[in-house]
Formats: sequence, C-alpha cells, structure tokens
Amino acid sequence: MRQLRQVKLPAIVFAAGFAASAWGYFAGARHSEAEQIAQLQETAENYAFLLRNRLELYEGADRALGAFFSASSSIDAEEFDNYIGASRVFERLEGASSFGYLPKVPAADAGRFEAEAARTFPGYRISDQRAGADAWYPLYYAVHGTDPTRAGRLRGADFSSVPERWAAMQEAARRDEPVATAVHPALRHAAHRPVVLIFSPVRSMRTPSAADGQARGGLKGFVFSAMYVDRLFLGFDHGRLASLFDVEVFDGSLAREHLLFDSDGVSHALKADAAQLLAHRAEIPVANRTWLLHFYAKKASLASKAAWAGTTVLAIGLLLTLVASYGVAAWPRYVSRQRAMREFNERFAGFFEHHPFAVYAIDLEQHFIHANQQMARELGVGREALIGAPFEAFVAEEDRGALANHFKDVLAGKTVAYTTRLMRADGRCPDVSIVLVPMSAGSEVTHVLGFAENVTDRKQAEQALHESQQMLQLIIDNIPQSVFWKNLDSVFQGGNRSLLVEMGLDGIDQLVGRKDGDFAAWKDMAEHYRQVDLEVMRSGVGRMRMQATDLRKDGTECWIETSKIPLRDEAGKVVGVLAVTEDITARKYMEQELFRRANYDTLTGLPNRGYFNNQLEEAVKRAQRRGGLALMYFDIDRFKHINDTYGHDVGDQVIRMFAQRVRQVLRESDFIARLGGDEFVLIAEGLHQPGDTAVIGQKMVDAMVPPFSVGGTTLQVSTSIGIAYFEAAMTPETLVKAADQAMYDAKRAGRNCFRQAGTAEQPAEKD
Ligand code: GH3
Ligand code: MG
Repeated sequence: MRQLRQVKLPAIVFAAGFAASAWGYFAGARHSEAEQIAQLQETAENYAFLLRNRLELYEGADRALGAFFSASSSIDAEEFDNYIGASRVFERLEGASSFGYLPKVPAADAGRFEAEAARTFPGYRISDQRAGADAWYPLYYAVHGTDPTRAGRLRGADFSSVPERWAAMQEAARRDEPVATAVHPALRHAAHRPVVLIFSPVRSMRTPSAADGQARGGLKGFVFSAMYVDRLFLGFDHGRLASLFDVEVFDGSLAREHLLFDSDGVSHALKADAAQLLAHRAEIPVANRTWLLHFYAKKASLASKAAWAGTTVLAIGLLLTLVASYGVAAWPRYVSRQRAMREFNERFAGFFEHHPFAVYAIDLEQHFIHANQQMARELGVGREALIGAPFEAFVAEEDRGALANHFKDVLAGKTVAYTTRLMRADGRCPDVSIVLVPMSAGSEVTHVLGFAENVTDRKQAEQALHESQQMLQLIIDNIPQSVFWKNLDSVFQGGNRSLLVEMGLDGIDQLVGRKDGDFAAWKDMAEHYRQVDLEVMRSGVGRMRMQATDLRKDGTECWIETSKIPLRDEAGKVVGVLAVTEDITARKYMEQELFRRANYDTLTGLPNRGYFNNQLEEAVKRAQRRGGLALMYFDIDRFKHINDTYGHDVGDQVIRMFAQRVRQVLRESDFIARLGGDEFVLIAEGLHQPGDTAVIGQKMVDAMVPPFSVGGTTLQVSTSIGIAYFEAAMTPETLVKAADQAMYDAKRAGRNCFRQAGTAEQPAEKD
C-alpha cells in the first residue's frame, strides 16, 4: 500500500501539474493581471512546499549530526570533515553556510580545555565569552560551504554570547530537538549578513537499560547548521523564485521587528495597499519556529509577462511540476531517513549495522544490548537470541577469566584491546581480536562498545609459520654443522645449537644482536669476516668451503670450513648472510693421513717411490733451467744376510736406522726416498759442479762406519752409492737409469763405496 503510494503520488502530481500547465498555456495569454496573480498562486504554493521541504532537510541534517556526536565518545576534526563530506549536505542544501560543533565547556574547565584543544588547533582560545556564564559553547570545529577560512576565523568564539543563539540553544536543550534561532547578523562578518542557525543538542549516551529512568544523558554541547537567509531564498531554484516573486518572510508574527527576509527591501506585507499583489501566503514550521512566507507577484514581471504569459506559465508550470513530482517522490525517503536518524540517536549501534567488523554493545552486567549483523554471524545465532544474553556465554571457557579482567579495565574508563576465542552456537571457536571502548555519560561508564575482528585465518597462518619455523629450527639444531645468520650490518640474528655449544654460549640471547667483534675468539678476525659478509651480500653470490685454522674454546687448534650464502627476502632482496661452519680438523687429519700413506713409507717415514717420481720430474724441470742436480741410488750391502741371520724385525730396525743416519748427514733441502726393500734414493739440487757429489757420497759412506746396535746385537752396515749428475737433454728416466747403473758399478767394485756415472772408476773405500 505504502509502496503504491510512493509510486503513484509523484505520477499524480506530475499529471496534475502537466494538465494545469497546459491549461495555463492556453488560458494564460487571455488573463488579466489579477487572473495572472491568482494563477501564480499555484506556483507560489509549489515553492512554499519545496521550501518547507528544504528546511526540513536542514533540520534533519542537524539532528543526524547531533546523533552522530552523541553516539561517539569523541570525534576528531577529521572524522567530522569526513562525515560532512560523506553526507553531502552542502550539495543537497543550498544556502547552508556551515556546520559545526560547540562543546560545552564549564568556565572552571576552560584552561584545561584550551590547552587540550591547542594540541589540534595551535593557539586555541575561547573568545567572546558570554559574561557571567558558568559554561561556554565555543566553536571547536566547523566546515564552511563556501569560505574555508571562515571556520578558522570563528574558532573559539563562544556562540552562546549571541542572545538569539543562546535562546535557541537553551530551547534545543530543553526540548532535546533541533531549534532554530531568530534571524540575526553573522558573527564577525564584515557585511553583517543575516543568518539563521539551527542548534541540535549533543548528549552523552544512555543505555536503554539504564535503571535511573533518565531518558537522556548529560549535555555535551551542540552541533549547528548556519544558513545565509538571502542565499536561501534568492538562490533557490537558481533565482527563479526571486525573479517571479517578491518574497517576504516573517519569523513568528507579522511585525517589522520579525521580518526575516525581504527580497526587494520594500515590505508589502506591512502595507495594506499591496494586498492585491499577494499570490500566496504560507506558514512553514522551521525547527521549533514558524516562518510566515508571503509571495508577492512582481509588478514589473507581470507587465512584461503579459505577452509571454502563456509560454512562461507553461514552462514554469512544467518545471515546477517536475520539481514538485521529484519532491513528492523524494519526500518519503527523507522522512524515513530522518526516522532512521532518530532511531540511531536512541540506538547508536544502528550506526554500525554494516560495519565490516562485528560490533556490539554490552551493559555493565555484560549483557548484549546491541549487536550488528556481522556479530550475529560471527556467533552463529540470531540477533533476537543475542540481545539480553550474557556475552560471557559466547567466550571460550578458558578465556573467561581474562575477559573479566579486561572488563574491569574498561569500566575504569580504559579502551582495551585483546584477542580471545569465541564459542559459536555450532561449536566452532573462532579467534577474534577485540577492542572494547567504554561509553560514558559524564564521568560514569554506562555501557561498553565492542569491535571484534575475526583473526582465525591470520592466527592459523601464524601458527603454520610458527610450526614451520620450529621445524626448521629443529632441523638445524640437529645437524653437526654450526649455522648462523646475520643482517646487513653483520649483526647476528640467529644460530643453531651446535653454534651455541661451540661458542660456549648458554642461550640464543647471548648471540642475537651481537657482532663477531663482541666475541673474544673472533675479535681478531672480525674485520675479515665483515669483509667476506659484505662481498657475499654485495655480489649476491655465495662463498663456499672457505678453510681456515681457528682456536677452539679449549685453546686447541682446529680447522674450520665456512660457507656463506646471501639471505634474501621474498622479493629477492639481499637482507643478510647465512653461514654454515664445520670443524673439519678430523677430515683434515684424515686427508693428511691419506696423503701421507700415499706418499710416504711407513717403516722409515721417508717419501716413497710415487712421491719420489713426482719430485724427480720437478727437479729435472728445474735443472733444465739452472743445472746443479744429482741423483744418487744407494742400498744396504748384503742386507739379505742381516735378514737371514737376525730376522726380519732386526732387518726392519736396520733399515730404519740406516735411513736416520743418511738423513742426519744430508742437508734439509735434500730429498731422500725409500724406493723399497733396502733401496733408497737421494735428489740433491743446487750443486755447483759434478765433483760436489763426491763429498755427499763420502759423507754417506762415512755415516755407516759406527756399528749399528739393534736389540743387543752390534752390526756393521755399509752402503753402495751410484751417482748420476744431470746433464742437458737428460730425462728422469735416463737419470734414474744412469744412477742405477752407477750403483751396480759400486757393488761390483766391492761395495761400501760410491761411483759416479760417466766418470773414471774411483777407489773403493776400505771396509
Ligand atoms: P747387495 O749387497 O747386493 O745389495 O746384497 P743384498 O743382500 O742386500 O741384496 P738385495 O739388496 O738385493 O736384497 C735386499 C733384501 O732386502 C731382499 C729382501 O728380502 C729384503 N727386504 C726387502 N724389503 C724388506 C723389508 O721391508 N724388511 C726387511 N727386513 N727386509 C726386506
Ligand atoms: Mg742390498
């Protein structure tokens, strides 16, 4: 039914207006001035209707703004701007000059208030104070529709110092409704432009369950809208109203002192002789006042209009018909919006109905007094079931104790944020982050506003991350290598258990936040480590398997191997360096042992044949450039006999002692190797002439003269030596062959002597 009216009524208005306009078109031209005036009556009626509508909107905007302030414990200038911007009042209400907020400031409290306000508006001062008042209503912030500087110029002015305003403010507070002022000159306005203000009281909220029976909270201040009266009427309908009519408006009653607006400055209403020009007279209620509107047909326009009357009437008629139809169509919307605002005033939480968070209000006993759709969804219950129910019933049991504590803080006036687990009707337990805001009347908390955000997904993601981090830590704690990571400044960010053990640290805190230089063991190397870190981080390329000797914490030497790789964030940017270090002393030892075994003879500790072959090759290369190389083959004479007579163990012992004696008489730089059995070889370099070898050969023969004492037995041992001196074009093989042959020569010459290849036979030493 109502819907039908909403659609039909504008159509009827349109049809009627159209018919009237058409009729006017045909009839208009023939009409006399008096008839035209009578005809303009309808136009004036339409204007009166639209003006009434417009003023209702002002009142409604004011009421909504009052509700907005009442619902919020505090609103800052930015929020206020946003609200005004979002409600588009200046676009919708031509003639509105400004909207603003006037907090109630007890005179005794003025100093503190000024100091606090000065934090947002430097230099804030309450000015124009109403003399002898115990409370002032200074402008705190305002938005001006056309002159942004005006709000700044008026800031701090006590609006109650203007008698017209103070009267309206008092009335508004008494009635708890928007109340308009009488017309009066604008404050601090050079042209004393006439204005009318509508004040709406702002109260601290009372909960519906408040038991004291008081319907409304204490007065916190006022919001106001200001209208430039001239712009309201002259600018209306793009000035057409003013061109058609001389509009005169009286506030309350027809008297000169109550004249609110007169478009031509000549008051017809107060002169009896102008009665015949009166097209329409209307009474419009304006926020607790009544405005008397007089529409006088303009004489000048009537004359010129005679010729154009038909067309003009048609055009205006059609225009007004459209405007009126729109007005009629829009009217129910305005009315319902205003009703919604009124309801909001009583039940502020309606404001949060479509808030993306779950929003709810609970009373001092923690019973729901309101919950928005999202809250009902979050708890999985209908809203009807929620209202009056204890909030605690929806909180997981283990979290109820914490809730009680938080609630205590809120009742003490603090805003509290915490996370908790709710308990849904279906048994699920979502994690929510809750903010509780105390809502108070005066100094007393009356109820609590809650905002809940479901953070289950976020928590699960955090948990998963935590678990994966734990897993990672578990893994790295159980590898034998030491692992640590540093940031761009080479400050330790973390490490594994092996590292802590190796460094003798009790916990990770002793590592994180420090640098290499903070640890005694690394102090000397800190600069070097930093350079490596920088190189890795700058190049983005890891440095792998760097080996170095180090000192263990017990002071023993060790080998460590370190690999450093750049650490990158998700975007691939280098954010630090990750290092893995390992004590490779055992491996190093093993490597050395393997090398030793591959290259040394276990019985004597001398290099073996393989090692000798390599050395000889190198030595020949060197000799090819600078000569001075001799190769000597030597073995123990009649060794088989020793073995056979005293056994292999004694034989081994003799081989060992023989090697020692040779070693003792030779230079450190001479290379001696055991080729196998009782056969040895010597590489001597840096010789000046072939004859130098005789000295060496003789020393070796002489070294065997003292008897060998082995296991209580005394033995006489001797050696035969074959010497080959390097000559150009010789290869390692020919050199070996020559030395071998020379040794054979020495044996043949009776042993215990040396022979040099390519030289005359030398006399053998006597036994
Ligand atoms: P010559 O004066 O001609 O050198 O006579 P020799 O008895 O020393 O003969 P030869 O050098 O050919 O013999 C070396 C012997 O050394 C042969 C072998 O039994 C023995 N022998 C080889 N290796 C070892 C070893 O590691 N330990 C011991 N005890 N004897 C070895
Ligand atoms: Mg021998």
